[in-house]
Amino acid sequence: MPNLLDPVTRHAAASPARIALRTDTEPWTYADLYDASLRYAGALSAEGLGTGDRVLLVAPSLPEFVVAYMGIQALGGIVVTVNTMSTAAEIEYYLTDSGTRLVIGWHGLGTAVADVARAVGIPHWFLRPGARVDAAQIPVVVDRPATDTAAILYTSGTTGKPKGAQLTVGNLLAAGEIASTVGRATAADRTGTGLPLFHVFGQASVMMSTFTSGGSLSLLGRFTPDGMIDMMRRDDLTMMVGVPTMWNAMLHAAGDADAADFAHLRVAVSGGASLPGEIARSFEARFGCTILEGYGLTETTALGTFNDVDRGGKIGFVGGAVPRLEVDIRDPKGSPCPAGTVGEVYIKGETVMKGYWNRPDATAAAITTDGWFRTGDLGEFDTDNDLRIVDRLKDLIIRGGYNVYPGEVEEVLYQHPDIIEAAVVGVPDDHYGEEVMAVVTRRPGSELTDQEIEAWSREKLSAYKIPRIVRFVDQLPKGATGKILKRDIDRNDPRKASA
Ligand code: AMP
Repeated sequence: MPNLLDPVTRHAAASPARIALRTDTEPWTYADLYDASLRYAGALSAEGLGTGDRVLLVAPSLPEFVVAYMGIQALGGIVVTVNTMSTAAEIEYYLTDSGTRLVIGWHGLGTAVADVARAVGIPHWFLRPGARVDAAQIPVVVDRPATDTAAILYTSGTTGKPKGAQLTVGNLLAAGEIASTVGRATAADRTGTGLPLFHVFGQASVMMSTFTSGGSLSLLGRFTPDGMIDMMRRDDLTMMVGVPTMWNAMLHAAGDADAADFAHLRVAVSGGASLPGEIARSFEARFGCTILEGYGLTETTALGTFNDVDRGGKIGFVGGAVPRLEVDIRDPKGSPCPAGTVGEVYIKGETVMKGYWNRPDATAAAITTDGWFRTGDLGEFDTDNDLRIVDRLKDLIIRGGYNVYPGEVEEVLYQHPDIIEAAVVGVPDDHYGEEVMAVVTRRPGSELTDQEIEAWSREKLSAYKIPRIVRFVDQLPKGATGKILKRDIDRNDPRKASA
């Protein structure tokens, strides 16, 4: 029977001195990581924790995060990883909903998390690097069924309050294997990311995948474009994983960085949100490196489809189904759609979650009786079996009876030289039902106007898709990975507000 620590255990035994984690200071070898994880498990066990116990971990992407995560796994526990930006009310909800027995926080967050834990009556630890445990207390790694829940990650899914997606030992091991296979990752790879490990993308496609292949992982506690480029230079990264807002930020803030800094880079992997073609093209032109896009969700352990490394990226497409998963496009009645027809994306296979924690109804609504997970995303296959994600079902704008896919409008806005970021949303409209609104951040010093944006869009889009309302902002609301959060956008019509 497996444990999520197995890949680390394997490399610690076979090549103990190989680097697992690269940092500003001393690197951690696989032997160091294995040893620290078991000591951490010993400390948890001394606290009375054991198999199936939930431990909430709220910390940035530091080596100690990995140690605590793996320590919980070694013991057969369930790690609940939550966003470091969560409010006290959110933390309280995650704690109580998951029935957490211990909270592990981080000193950089002050006492906020500890205060919530105290108020709810749950013990709290600060992330302890290399907890001191007697050798006698070091437990053996617990073997558990692959169907055991290893991690709970809260996600809003398609609707409603955040629900805990239960990812099993089997889901996360399979995700690590599949991601390393499709990325052609080997022990020689040096992977770096600015993604948070509390999110599925960093946890499964980066952390588990790196440990599966036996390469090294370089982490940023907090993403900044300069931090990412410094890490790139420091560690000669061969793989880089991120979301579109990160590539965009690197393009706009990269100082003197050029292709020479990216000379070791074999592949940049993008996911989490749709990658505007303009960003992919500019990145390639500036840094000489192709970005390959993939698609997945928390509920599918970050996997779904991926562009083939050998074939190279196909701009606008997220590639074909990865091994061990099937991807289907279905109409509203659940019947399969042919290539070239837009429908809902369904996913089935080894990385589909077990279900939402304590939510049988939500689970039954999300997973069909024959195991297909309904993603709530709209997409279509082309005749090469490559998937194009059209939009979220719920983000679709219906203006006067016509479907407007926000991604298509955003794509045009990103091509404008004065626009740094753009999000397109629907706002209620008396006449058309919904009107298209663009929320835009401009290049510093730019005096781009809403009329100019309208004129720019008019050249490239049908009349009904043109954003007739434009709101300029300094910053767009972003989620854990840096993904633009459309639900948090202020949808008040600025024309009416100023009238
Ligand atoms: P999360 O559960 O936070 O990982 O969010 C999953 C959602 O992110 C999916 O349902 C998609 O809407 C979106 N997403 C992920 N990857 C892509 C991609 N490559 N292109 C477009 N949308 C994506």
